[in-house]
Amino acid sequence: MSMRLGSQASPVMPNLTRYGRRCKPGLSQRYHRLSPGLQHLPPRSGLTRTLGRTQTPRCTMSVLSGSCNCGAVIFKLTQAPTEATTCHCTQCRKQSGHYFASANLPKSALQLSGAEHITWYQSSEKVRRGFCSKCGCWLFWEPVFRDWTSVALGSLNGHTNLALERHIFVAHKGDYYSIADGLPQNEN
Ligand SMILES: [Zn+2]
Ligand SMILES: [Zn+2]
Repeated sequence: MSMRLGSQASPVMPNLTRYGRRCKPGLSQRYHRLSPGLQHLPPRSGLTRTLGRTQTPRCTMSVLSGSCNCGAVIFKLTQAPTEATTCHCTQCRKQSGHYFASANLPKSALQLSGAEHITWYQSSEKVRRGFCSKCGCWLFWEPVFRDWTSVALGSLNGHTNLALERHIFVAHKGDYYSIADGLPQNEN
């Protein structure tokens, strides 16, 4: 696929195969917005009762989508990614130009268009890193022999309803910045 887009344009989403059951976007957005705080609500609040009826959602389709800068690679996530972390290891810092923020989801939950434009850099025996061969955006960190992938949070469009949970490999972070957000830090 080849697309010409202005720098401010959001890539459109052509040629994506339809997946799963269709559902109303409003329902899906409401579920994903409200469900993360469910466990923190007072047990007898009206909201809890309301949410209780939606804990088995009629549709778990995520509304998240993402792309590279040039629009050659676009994708949708059919479920919300988890374990949002930043990695400060040397490879991630060089690959990203700073450090890498990503979250995980099953490979089967990633719906790609323009996969032929992804170049995979095999950074170790077990890991490869996928970036757009046209514009260079780093999009995926992927364990080759596992069934999940990690998607770059910066590649996602619009409001994600995600929040970073942890910093990893902070022993290898650059000396030109501080981590001061109070999140847990793993040395490696
Ligand atoms: Zn691109
Ligand atoms: Zn890393």
